[in-house]
Amino acid sequence: MSNNRYARHEALSEIGETGQTILKQAQVLIVGIGGLGCPAAQYLAASGAGTIVLNDFDSVDESNLARQILFEADSVGLLKVSVAKKRLERLNSNVRIICIDKRLDEEALLIEAKKASVVLDATDNFSTRLAVNRAAVQAGVPLVTGAAIRFEGQLSVFPNQGAGPCYRCLYDDEGEWLGNCQSNGVAAPVPGVVGTMMALEAMKLLLGLKSSLTNHLHLWDAKRADWKDIIVKVNPNCPDCQS
Ligand SMILES: [Zn+2]
Repeated sequence: MSNNRYARHEALSEIGETGQTILKQAQVLIVGIGGLGCPAAQYLAASGAGTIVLNDFDSVDESNLARQILFEADSVGLLKVSVAKKRLERLNSNVRIICIDKRLDEEALLIEAKKASVVLDATDNFSTRLAVNRAAVQAGVPLVTGAAIRFEGQLSVFPNQGAGPCYRCLYDDEGEWLGNCQSNGVAAPVPGVVGTMMALEAMKLLLGLKSSLTNHLHLWDAKRADWKDIIVKVNPNCPDCQS
């Protein structure tokens, strides 16, 4: 490999050679390799994140192809993590890609979260989101969580170092904030933008760069091209970070 691959990173005072080494030493767990996970994994791999763990039990469906940009027409029917691994290794052979092609139970998720430097929640359903959050809180590992539906996106960063808040603090009950995109539809570039921002926020966490997304919920109205910001307060009844 030419030494030029990360030249534009190394030219930044916020990254430099030291930051690039930090990225190389990092392990990123991405749960969900769909519309969010594909661009997140692609940018993290291209950026030189050392180890990327891909967790998804699903196979590629034709209806995924409009937005799940690691997959091609001949990927239909194949396991998402296997196709993604091949694509990412072609993109950057210096990156180690680990595939987990099954749904992780609570214990297994916690083990994976503990091994990670940062966890990306790129799933499309509320119960998995809660499970990923719980694992990240218990492991004390930062969580970057994103969602996309219709023309709407959301994005948050929770450092999970200490007293909260966490993603679960946003919800008083287990009611679903978002449906999944199967039932609701989604404009293809919306998860692309949110997933790409998730990769960027993960990098910033690894590099120790501050973000206004920390303990905030950013809501993106993609139709109006408008961002709204909500401070996430600690929910004293939160079963995950306050128990
Ligand atoms: Zn909480």
